[in-house]
Amino acid sequence: MTIDELNFDEKGLIPAIVQDAQSKEVLMLAYMNRESLDMSLKTGETWFYSRSRQELWNKGATSGNKQQIVDMRFDCDKDTLIVKVITQGPACHNGSYSCFTQSLNNDNDKSQVSPDRFQIINELEETIALREAEMPEGAYTTYLFDKGVDKILKKVGEEAAEVIIAAKNRSSEELEWETADLLYHLLVLLREQKVGLDQILAVLKERHKNKATT
Ligand code: AMP
Ligand code: ZN
Ligand code: ZN
Ligand code: ZN
Repeated sequence: MTIDELNFDEKGLIPAIVQDAQSKEVLMLAYMNRESLDMSLKTGETWFYSRSRQELWNKGATSGNKQQIVDMRFDCDKDTLIVKVITQGPACHNGSYSCFTQSLNNDNDKSQVSPDRFQIINELEETIALREAEMPEGAYTTYLFDKGVDKILKKVGEEAAEVIIAAKNRSSEELEWETADLLYHLLVLLREQKVGLDQILAVLKERHKNKATT
């Protein structure tokens, strides 16, 4: 696949959906031309074409909120790109994690009723990514990212020990509470280490598959 096979529009542009590779949240939409796509592939950072300023634009060049490219895909008819990125700062120039914060159908509640019993884990992973990007004052997750990896590791260790104690005590209530603590801190650690929950699930899946065939 070469760039020339892509279907750029009559202005030589192709829309690029930017997605958080870890949380899967859609962050922003911008346009690329051949040159910005070239630069993106070459540098591993997102480069777009600004239609209003009519110039190449390296996302984060002025704000510092650069996006590191993990994967780039084109769709079935080769006229749209998805750019999967790892980012620490907000994607939106108004400072929010994603550009898509406003609901058209007036429903401010982001959480949807879902048949997926792990929905809450997905939401938690997203929220943690959002905290890291926006660092809202007073949030405990902000505090953890601010303190850094050693603090997060210490908490993971503490919570693991508390899980052990709860299990030893045969207290299911205590075990539920402490396991929730441990899972949350593990998710913070994974985000800090730039490892997505999907990668962990892939390992589990692979092991399970092997087990089934032996
Ligand atoms: P940045 O690339 O983050 O350094 O921002 C530089 C300029 O790019 C801003 O002043 C905006 O004009 C524009 N910009 C940045 N992020 C976005 C975005 N997500 N959507 C639209 N324009 C943006
Ligand atoms: Zn298409
Ligand atoms: Zn925006
Ligand atoms: Zn605890």
